[in-house]
Amino acid sequence: MSILKVARIAHPVLRSPAKAVPKEAFRDRLFQKLIDDMRVTMYEYEGVGLAAPQVHEGLRLAVIEVPGSEERARAEVPFMVLVNPVVTPIGDERENGWEGCLSVPDMRGVVPRLKRVKLEALDRHGKPYSLEAQDFFARVVQHECDHLDGHVYLDRMADMRSLTFIKEFEDHVHHDEE
Ligand SMILES: [Zn+2]
Repeated sequence: MSILKVARIAHPVLRSPAKAVPKEAFRDRLFQKLIDDMRVTMYEYEGVGLAAPQVHEGLRLAVIEVPGSEERARAEVPFMVLVNPVVTPIGDERENGWEGCLSVPDMRGVVPRLKRVKLEALDRHGKPYSLEAQDFFARVVQHECDHLDGHVYLDRMADMRSLTFIKEFEDHVHHDEE
């Protein structure tokens, strides 16, 4: 497995809509390796999700894994693969929350996201699944699926004044919220 180079904003691959993964791909050794490489790349940079365009592959593919955290009120999400995902709102309730992105290094910003969504996708073997995601999991799903359409979280921020560097976030913002 290899740790992949992560594209940073201004690289065109992050602004181009990704292409659907074709059926033949699931039996392709290189496609399966790409998933494994995205997994270790996500771990290496301590992300909770990674989309294929972020590693210079214009495919509708993303991986997600969220370690549970009581302190941050995050439910655990075991490693999962999203191929050709479709996200549908459940209700219209939105919630503000902090987001960061491996393609926008060292920054955080507050982004309003739907609190609940339905996710329909294929797993790494091409098997369809469907689930309901809420809270932080729903946020990660929306963030990663946005990458497949050429969007980053900065585009979704309602107020750019919350944009902060991580160091300043730790120094000034994080403490205020506790
Ligand atoms: Zn991102």
